[in-house]
Amino acid sequence: MTQRHITIVGAGQSGLQLGIGLLDAGYHVTTVSNRTGDEIYEGKVSSSQCIFHDALENERKLGLDFWPEAPTVDGISFTIPHPDVPGEKAINWASGLDNPAKSIDQRVKFPRFMEEFVARGGELIFEDAGVEDLERYTLNSELVIVAAGKGEIAQLFTRDAARSFYDAPQRALALTYVNGLDPRPEFSAVSFNLIPGVGEYFAFPALTKTGPCEIMVFEGIPGGPMDCWKGLSAEEHLETSKSILKTFLPWEAARAVDVELTDPNGFLQGRFAPTVRHPIATLPSGRKVLGLADVVVLNDPITGQGSNNASKCAASYLQSIKEHGDGAFDSEFMQATFEKYWNYAQHVAQWTNALLAPPPPHVLQLLGAAGQSPEIASRFANGFNNPPDFQEWFMYPDKAAAYLESVNSVATQ
Ligand SMILES: Cc1cc2nc3c(=O)[nH]c(=O)nc-3n(C[C@H](O)[C@H](O)[C@H](O)COP(=O)(O)OP(=O)(O)OC[C@H]3O[C@@H](n4cnc5c(N)ncnc54)[C@H](O)[C@@H]3O)c2cc1C
Repeated sequence: MTQRHITIVGAGQSGLQLGIGLLDAGYHVTTVSNRTGDEIYEGKVSSSQCIFHDALENERKLGLDFWPEAPTVDGISFTIPHPDVPGEKAINWASGLDNPAKSIDQRVKFPRFMEEFVARGGELIFEDAGVEDLERYTLNSELVIVAAGKGEIAQLFTRDAARSFYDAPQRALALTYVNGLDPRPEFSAVSFNLIPGVGEYFAFPALTKTGPCEIMVFEGIPGGPMDCWKGLSAEEHLETSKSILKTFLPWEAARAVDVELTDPNGFLQGRFAPTVRHPIATLPSGRKVLGLADVVVLNDPITGQGSNNASKCAASYLQSIKEHGDGAFDSEFMQATFEKYWNYAQHVAQWTNALLAPPPPHVLQLLGAAGQSPEIASRFANGFNNPPDFQEWFMYPDKAAAYLESVNSVATQ
């Protein structure tokens, strides 16, 4: 039997993981990248890419755990500064993850995955794919998948207004990759700080080009004091990172006194609107292509889910393709493949979009109660690995009240 040929546009988290999975399953795979491995390695950081256990398992199953020595993220800590007493914390707790998370700089990961893709028999070509190129790929492949992340080509997929919650960026984003951040004394964690009206700051250990590092992520509410990154040089960016911590989060500033950028490209500034898109784009010829991961469900990084989603979307599509056997890769298949993923991804989007809004009373109550209840803190922390669980206790006032009552009644027994 001749091998079925699938072309994937975009060699990032989802495209490479899916491509390697398809090769292992016996498909002929071509991946198109607009950047070589060297260009990615020498370029700017693109993400903080903290990946939790279930998504890491998808990579491990494909034999892609090339960095067993990378620092682990073993928990989540959560802090809200006191609104009236500067330097004090109103809410502060930490909880372990049942299984560690990891962040491997995409500049390190993608070139290595590309190498692996080619070693396993994949065809990797370098071009900045446009519409005409997509037409060409559809002529010689049975299925064309667009995994181009936030690349311009994703605009071919139209916004799904019914499934998109926002139509404008909700945060001014900044990344600062640093050496010299003091580790947390207890266990390594995503140190998440929520500053009402200003934005969020979180930091955690990672592996970058120069070795272990910490990544600082700033999420500034547009127009607020943390929306201050545009056009800054590397040096100014680092100084701004430190000065924000001094102003709003002195306990984090104390950890960051001696920090330095890991490398001249270890910083990023940007913003984008969280968007859900229709999963099928129709080319001028009438032929259709299928969107994958960020192309179809793009979330704000506030909950650190993009790479996790990319991995889970790739795993879900891989299963759908394999289960489809010799069936035609038509619109019906494409829509069903996306809907299966959306059954999961809608919960991630809903939770992430909720955290971008000012926290409602039941959320503040839960986050406060987590300070007294290790059970609640643990459920919140481990929800990052499995966001659909937030539907059961976090997203709605009635479910939150019932959950609090059940936790309290166990505690008083
Ligand atoms: C500030 C910030 C912090 C983040 N932090 C986290 C986090 O902590 N945890 C987490 O899980 N996620 C995080 N993310 C999100 C995560 O990095 C992305 O969601 C994830 O990489 C998306 O995977 P993807 O495969 O869809 O796209 P990508 O990994 O972005 O890959 C897309 C690839 O396609 C290529 N491409 C684009 N256009 C074309 C074209 N026309 N032709 C050929 N190739 C093309 C690009 O060069 C790129 O290599 C963060 C994102 C940002 C911006």
